Amino acid sequence: MDLFEYQARELFAKHGVPVLDSHVVDEAEAAGEAARLLGGRAVVKAQVKTGGRGKAGGVKLASDPAEAVAHAARILGMDIKGHTVEKVMLTRTADIAEEYYVSFLLDRTNRTFLAMASVEGGMDIEEVAATRPEALSRIPIDPDEGVTDDKAREIVAAAGLPDEAAPVLTALWRVFTEEDALLVEVNPLVRTEDGQILALDGKVTLDANARFRHPDHTAYETPGEGDPLEAAAKTKGLNYVKLDGSVGIIGNGAGLVMSTLDVVAYSGSDPANFLDIGGGASAQVMADGLGVILADPDVRSVFVNVFGGITACDAVADGIIQALDQVELTKPLVVRLDGNNAERGRAILRDAAASLGPLVQQLDTMDGAASRAAELAIAGS
Ligand code: GDP
Ligand code: MN
Repeated sequence: MDLFEYQARELFAKHGVPVLDSHVVDEAEAAGEAARLLGGRAVVKAQVKTGGRGKAGGVKLASDPAEAVAHAARILGMDIKGHTVEKVMLTRTADIAEEYYVSFLLDRTNRTFLAMASVEGGMDIEEVAATRPEALSRIPIDPDEGVTDDKAREIVAAAGLPDEAAPVLTALWRVFTEEDALLVEVNPLVRTEDGQILALDGKVTLDANARFRHPDHTAYETPGEGDPLEAAAKTKGLNYVKLDGSVGIIGNGAGLVMSTLDVVAYSGSDPANFLDIGGGASAQVMADGLGVILADPDVRSVFVNVFGGITACDAVADGIIQALDQVELTKPLVVRLDGNNAERGRAILRDAAASLGPLVQQLDTMDGAASRAAELAIAGS
């Protein structure tokens, strides 16, 4: 879950990362009072969950409250890379001497955490990373040790940041670990003319899997954000994940579902999504699952891949037939049943073939069924 800058700042302040006072408003008129509270001069900043606001005209310096209102009026409603600005943050201005870049992130490839730091902070860090990677220091962090004072000094020295930045790094590490973040980034971290180190911009991505440990993070959830079908599936207790191909996938059990994704990909198409119906492949679960999968406009064919266990294949076959009574099938559906009572389940579907209609096909092997689903998806696109 990505946070807005003003939310990232709340977490920064909570853990001792130095930030300037700020106010968030959603109406231009309110920006005047906010600027007054900040002493008159203020930076007006678009609150959108994307970078490059500065370049897009979403960060403006106002020298008095009237100018703050004018900037807010222009920035509110602005479109920045497909994100509409609904709030602006006003913050006290800083006299910047130097701009740095610092971040902590999960480095999945190396199975550790990584600190990145550069004296070339500001708006173009992506370009720095791409064109002059040596200007961006990357320092692995031992997860058992974390960012101790020594480690912070090591990062600061490696990147050429001033020594005073070291305590800010340990504070930022507290944000990273105590809030269960996957990313904390400050760009720019600045040194002001009078020698203060300040985080002027912040990006935080929280780990959704750790949500249960942070009831206070609920406040950061934006209703309606994210995939609407994922939300719909969640309310029905289904594990649904949106992907970007064209074959809808229903399977039982995480392992089988993951290998189904692979087999579909090997067959020349790509999964549009997947839904793990777990152990209880009842008619209702199947109907709910098909409802969600078919509502995804990217789906060109559906592959139901079930390995019968405690819920045997005959029960699953009955479930599919009943589900198809409740759901209008609009795309080809390929079913593969194996495992407990496979023969009985297959026979049930074969016997019902005439009433199920030509959109429903059954194949006995996973590879065969995946290839058919892929072909149908390609033919239907
Ligand atoms: P981004 O473009 O979305 O990353 O937005 P930032 O918050 O990083 O702002 C972009 C740039 O605006 C920064 O790199 C700074 O140069 C400048 N900026 C932001 N806040 C201030 C401030 O308080 N004072 C000054 N002088 N410049 C600022
Ligand atoms: Mn920035």
